[in-house]
Amino acid sequence: MLERYADVVDAGIPIAGVDGVCLNLKVPGKRPRVVINSANPPLRRRFTEAHELGHIVIPWHRGTIVDHLDPEHVEAKDDYWLFEEEANQFAAELLMPSDWLEGLLESTPDLSQCHKCLSEECEVSALAAARRLSSVLPPNIVFIAEKNGEVEFSGRTPGTLAKVPAWQSMFDPGVFRYATGHHTSVTGTRRLHWWTLPDKVAGVTTDPRPWREILDEMVTDIGVPPDDQKRFKMSVNGVVAAANSAMKQRGTHTAPAVIAACLQRFHDRNDLTGIAAHPSFMDFVSKRASELTQ
Ligand SMILES: [Zn+2]
Repeated sequence: MLERYADVVDAGIPIAGVDGVCLNLKVPGKRPRVVINSANPPLRRRFTEAHELGHIVIPWHRGTIVDHLDPEHVEAKDDYWLFEEEANQFAAELLMPSDWLEGLLESTPDLSQCHKCLSEECEVSALAAARRLSSVLPPNIVFIAEKNGEVEFSGRTPGTLAKVPAWQSMFDPGVFRYATGHHTSVTGTRRLHWWTLPDKVAGVTTDPRPWREILDEMVTDIGVPPDDQKRFKMSVNGVVAAANSAMKQRGTHTAPAVIAACLQRFHDRNDLTGIAAHPSFMDFVSKRASELTQ
């Protein structure tokens, strides 16, 4: 397809991180010329080809564009990143068409299977497939590609509050233990994980005490030193307040939504996971959520 629009050359580009170069874009009397870095792996070259085709057919992309992997090395013109984003969207749609993707999503509830299929059928990298898939999914979904016991890459869908583990950190299988769904599939040497996180959790509490008393008890139980308890309780309340205002902004300001947001926020914070595992944690969060949404 690209050759119908341009002269295409595969060549070793001796500048590290350059995926490709597009020359003579919209230059009258000249045919566009594309150089694809032959040093890159096949799936990456394929995506670059689709990306360069985007530069060629999008009318306002003009002149010469050097596609560089590393943003710090780019002498960024004002429009550079906008054009890059547009060309990437074009490439994603060309290689992984919306209609086809919609059909794939309807065929199975297993997102890891969709991810695997998307990557293998469309001949795109697992990362490109994950980006495409997550861009069309609703909030409260997270994913990790696991390779050799490490997080190869991770991500979340737009609007998801939960943080995901850093790339190249050690993979912890229990990282989203509060998820309502978890699917995995193997592709090549990596395992794809997709979790669905709760967007609503019904409050349950039979504890007659006010939330302040429950919090005091939990803080003592998990062994926070007395001179640090005040600061610790402030950060607990800060997390609840952040979850509450996130739900207000989203327009889903109900107690079950605030509880679900609290679960995501508390599990993100290494210093607070101890409190999230306490048996009275749900009593505390339920009381806070119902008070805040009254
Ligand atoms: Zn580009």
